[in-house]
Amino acid sequence: MTEIGITAPPAVGWDIHCHTVFSDGTETPLTLLRQAKALGLHGVAISDHDTTAGWQEALDASREVGLPLLRGTEITAADDDVSVHMLAFQYDPTNVRIREMFASTRAARLRRSQRMVALIAQDYPIAWEDVLAQTREGERTTVGRPHIADALVAAGVYRNRSEAFSGAVSSTAKYYLPTPSPTTREVVAAVKDAGGVIVIAHAGDPQRNRNLLSDRQIGRLIDEGLDGLEVWHRGNPPEQRERLLGIAAKHDLLVTGGSDWHGKGKPNKLGENLTDDATIREILRRGVRL
Ligand SMILES: [Zn+2]
Ligand SMILES: [Zn+2]
Repeated sequence: MTEIGITAPPAVGWDIHCHTVFSDGTETPLTLLRQAKALGLHGVAISDHDTTAGWQEALDASREVGLPLLRGTEITAADDDVSVHMLAFQYDPTNVRIREMFASTRAARLRRSQRMVALIAQDYPIAWEDVLAQTREGERTTVGRPHIADALVAAGVYRNRSEAFSGAVSSTAKYYLPTPSPTTREVVAAVKDAGGVIVIAHAGDPQRNRNLLSDRQIGRLIDEGLDGLEVWHRGNPPEQRERLLGIAAKHDLLVTGGSDWHGKGKPNKLGENLTDDATIREILRRGVRL
């Protein structure tokens, strides 16, 4: 493989961690591609949460704007008690194994939301229909806590969503149930089966978890086929970047960077962290032709 050996963040290249309206971003894929072009980025990846729904629109936008695109998904997984985000790139979206994984996750999350609403309904005047009424895309929306919060606001229990999130919808409330997710092992296996490239996102971000993945947990995922680590991300503090770079050098892993852009949804600026061109070429070489 290419001798990349970077120890400092790349100054030019691609932003391969971007969210659009197809998950929790505020902008369309076309806006993503246009803004990336205006910034002089070499390319971008669309990496919405647990979906490939935006891929076609992003591809059309990539052609219209004339900027190359990687197709990706940020998949939420669980490794013991650690919630892990994994970036999957350039995999076959029609692969049966990965489709079944997404479908069963969606079904489990729907059941989880229904159970939470049933618990909340014992104390507050809401029903499942009220929650469904808060979704924009109906069936296609993954119904979750934001919609339950909105239903409680509509019922007059709270004034706004954040009040609901510090009340009945809080993760510390007695109604809370954890979000069902596939294991990291299942995600690596499914993405590999679909011919893709798999990278752990912001693996050193202490804000996200009380416990971070240990070297041993990362080592096990490397044995199972992990391709790389997202080192250049605003959530990874310097000492974690150093740790992750050490693991990557030892095991010849890809080192990626991305902004985790959400449009107006988060302060992260498009292009604030990048992946160098040599790493992109390696992702394209390893992934499937789409
Ligand atoms: Zn993430
Ligand atoms: Zn993200």
